[in-house]
Order: sequence, then structure tokens, then C-alpha cells
Amino acid sequence: MNFKTLPKIDLHLHLDGAIRVATIAALGDELGIKLPSYDPKELAKHVQVNRDCRCLGDFLKRFEVFYPLLAFARTQERIAYELCEDCARDNVIYFEARFAPALCQSPMFTMEDAVLAALEGFRRGQRDFGVRCGTILCCYRSLSVPENIEVVKLAHKYRDQGVVGIDLAGDENHFSAMPHAEAFALARKLEIPITIHAGEGGDSDHIREAVFTHGATRIGHGVSLQNDPELLKAVRDRGTTFEICLTSNLQTCTVPSISAHPFRKFLDEQVRVTLNTDDPAISNLTLTDEFALAAREFRLQPAEVRGLLLNAAHAAFGPASLRHELAGKFEHLP
Ligand SMILES: [Zn+2]
Repeated sequence: MNFKTLPKIDLHLHLDGAIRVATIAALGDELGIKLPSYDPKELAKHVQVNRDCRCLGDFLKRFEVFYPLLAFARTQERIAYELCEDCARDNVIYFEARFAPALCQSPMFTMEDAVLAALEGFRRGQRDFGVRCGTILCCYRSLSVPENIEVVKLAHKYRDQGVVGIDLAGDENHFSAMPHAEAFALARKLEIPITIHAGEGGDSDHIREAVFTHGATRIGHGVSLQNDPELLKAVRDRGTTFEICLTSNLQTCTVPSISAHPFRKFLDEQVRVTLNTDDPAISNLTLTDEFALAAREFRLQPAEVRGLLLNAAHAAFGPASLRHELAGKFEHLP
């Protein structure tokens, strides 16, 4: 199967993790921000992990190189615009990009400034490259409760302009989601769809809490669901969608090898799974690569590939008309 020409959907994609290396170099130069190198080839060694990266710390260190660039409208707009181009080139017809506005702020640049700049980049990118997208704003586990509530309010304010949902990101082993229950309660009240990073390196209880306490209809990663048969049955029956990111899970040491990933088990147990890139620039991969990897490692049948794409279409946070239209693109596949 040619996965490059296959229309695809990416639901778990971090805007900052999708920044092109050449763009980091160019923006560093334009904005006068210190980088280890301004030569994209040299800089890549500091920003991208090797295929054999097996360490979360090493993975996260890559982001620190370019974090100082994020608190500028020019950066947000450009990376959003270029992500549309990169997705269109990979035949990703719809994606939902997420970012944490709180990680993009400075005394001169507010969370709302970051949202406005990214939305403008996505608006222009969708127009120029014929791709569709939605924006998910990430609350952060280590932030204060009022800050996360502000993120939810921003998501509500910009829903007509492209924001489609909220997420919770950050270190699940050291920061519980519970203190942020109020932010999720507000999101539910405002009918903002919720996805939560849970069970990536942490316990399956984090998944249980995300779904049954906070109202997440999608889970980022959810690898530890494999250890909890009772929960697996409950989320399958509820129709919770799992945003699986195979290469990322390998590189951050969530799984010891791709063959040890529970993806095949989840598929066989009829859990709703999707394939996603997570941080395509850091991992140096495309969604085509992820489909090819899954097909090779887990011997995906054509009907399973169609099932993955339909799961993504049905779980998209965009409006019902969009979900219906996206599903229509896959129904004819073998
Ligand atoms: Zn993620």
C-alpha cells in the first residue's frame, strides 16, 4: 500500500514539535536569539533525536534549544503556516495541532497573543495549501489552576476561529491532573472537547481519571492501558479514542521496542486507535513513515488501515459536518 498517496489524518501533533530545523535557524538569526548553530545541518544535531534515541530526557532537551523563539508572533505564525505546507505535502488532509500558550508567553507576549498568531498562520496555511486543520490548546500539569482556566477560556473565545479542543500535557508522573479538575469542569460546561496525555509513562489510573473524572473523549498515548484489562474493556465500550504515537513512544522509552508496543493488542481488542506523529520535527518523521512502520511491524491489513483512518475521522474535534466529510474520504478504501 502506498501510504504517501493515502489521504491521512493526524490528531496528535505538537506545533512546537513540528518546527522545521531551517526555520529555527532563520528565526534565531532574525530575532537575535542565541542558538548552538545557525547552520541547519549542524543545528539538526541539537534539535532532532537520532533514530536510536531511547531516553525521555534526551528527547525533551531538544525543545529547550528553541523555546526562546516561541514567544514571538512571527514564530507562531510561521510555524503554523509551514505545518500546513508540510502536512499537505504528506497528504495529511486534516490535522489537529496543539500547543501550550503558557509556554509561549513572555512579559511582552501574552497567551492570547500566541493563540492569535498561530491561528493566523493556520488560516493562511489552509488557504494556500488546501489542507484543513483545528487547533487544540494545551493546559499544562505543572501550571497553576488559574492559568489553566485561562487556557480553557481562550479555547472558548476562539472556537469560531479554529480552536477545536483542549488538552492536558506535561509530566504525568510528578503532576497529577486532579488539581485541574476545575479547568476541565469549565471545558465540559462550555462543551469544549477534551483530550488528555495519560498513560504515556504513567499508571493506567491516569487514563481512568482522564476519561471518567475529567471527561476526556480522547487519550494521548495511553500505552499503560495494556496493564489494565478492566479499564480496557470500559474505554472500549465507551468509545474513547487513543492517539497512538509509535516512534515517539520508542524514543522516549515508553516502550522498549516497537514490537513490544500494545498497538496490535489494542487493535485486536477493538479499542479505537489512531496513528499520529506527536513531534514530527524532533523525531524527523512524517505520518507516512508512521503508517509504514505500523504496517511493517504489526502486519496491518487494508481493512485495518481504513479502520484507523475512520477512527481518526470520527474522533476529530472539528464540527460534525467535517467529521462526516472526512469519513467519506475513507469509506471507499479497500
Ligand atoms: Zn504529545
